[in-house]
Amino acid sequence: MFDFRSDTVTQPTEAMRRAMAQAEVGDDVYGDDPTVNALEAQAAEMAGFEAALFTSSGTQANLLALMAHCQRGDEYLCGQQAHNYKYEGGGAAVLGSIQPQPIDNEADGSLDLGKLKGAIKADDIHFARTRLISLENTIGGKVLPMPYLAQAQQFAFEQGLKLHLDGARVFNAVVDQGVTLADIAQYFDSFTICLSKGLAAPVGSLLVGDEALIQRARRWRKVLGGGMRQAGILAAAGQLALTEQVERLAEDHDNAQRLAEGLSALRGVEVDSRHTNMVFAQFRYPDLARLQAHLADDGIKATLNADAISRLVLHKDIPAAGVEALLQSLSRFEGGQA
Ligand SMILES: *Cc1c(COP(=O)(O)O)cnc(C)c1O
Repeated sequence: MFDFRSDTVTQPTEAMRRAMAQAEVGDDVYGDDPTVNALEAQAAEMAGFEAALFTSSGTQANLLALMAHCQRGDEYLCGQQAHNYKYEGGGAAVLGSIQPQPIDNEADGSLDLGKLKGAIKADDIHFARTRLISLENTIGGKVLPMPYLAQAQQFAFEQGLKLHLDGARVFNAVVDQGVTLADIAQYFDSFTICLSKGLAAPVGSLLVGDEALIQRARRWRKVLGGGMRQAGILAAAGQLALTEQVERLAEDHDNAQRLAEGLSALRGVEVDSRHTNMVFAQFRYPDLARLQAHLADDGIKATLNADAISRLVLHKDIPAAGVEALLQSLSRFEGGQA
């Protein structure tokens, strides 16, 4: 079975399952879980930051960042396509009383600094207080260019704003650019990492920041019901995600490239683009339901949209043979249609 829907479907490795079974644990709400503490220290160290916080999900990590940076009546600037605006249930507004101010993403996923400037509110009782800019890297698989990150940091500094990164897939950017986590992290006041996507841990994310920010986030995590007890069971897999799964992401990028090339050779598929571990394509077959069923018979899961571009995601559990299996299945389908 090859599942192209998302890199969230990755199964934990054997080594992760062993580490989870053997993990030394304690009550993390008391700060007593040595494995959670070690994971948090490991992430902070890799990023060149003071502190980190293990969270149940990337959504929770982003929400904690927003609530730790902003107060009730503050706002954050973000992209229309930002996960922490569009895909997190409006959590910042619902639970944080924080107003999002989205602006259109540029084609490369960045936020234009001029547009950001135009969205910053003056100090006036009519307006929410603009506090924070939130970027996303990778965004739709796209890597934000390093020079842009430096410009964004300079801009945020000049405007007296903090800069947060939704780095759910920041390690895909790290591997694609051949840089370190610290190289990217240095431009931000805080950032998140998802351990449970391409890095293959079963559960968990991290928020990374300075001591004071992480202390505020830790308080909000408890308020949100995210204080977990013997969470070292999960953190043990997270440690291996950071040590054993990062470099492997390059294979996903290579497989995505091979998939994009293979798809381009098919009559019914129009490839839009490939970015890191994601391929975007339009599937122009008259009967997509029949195609989905055909793929399912061949053990392939993919989300295909009739009138929009579809996203195929590569990850640890799709080896090169899985890419070939999808291409062959599609080409048999085309043959059967003729
Ligand atoms: C997946 C994802 C998240 C949230 O992660 P969950 O663990 O699913 O809550 C946040 N931001 C981006 C960009 C993501 O892709």
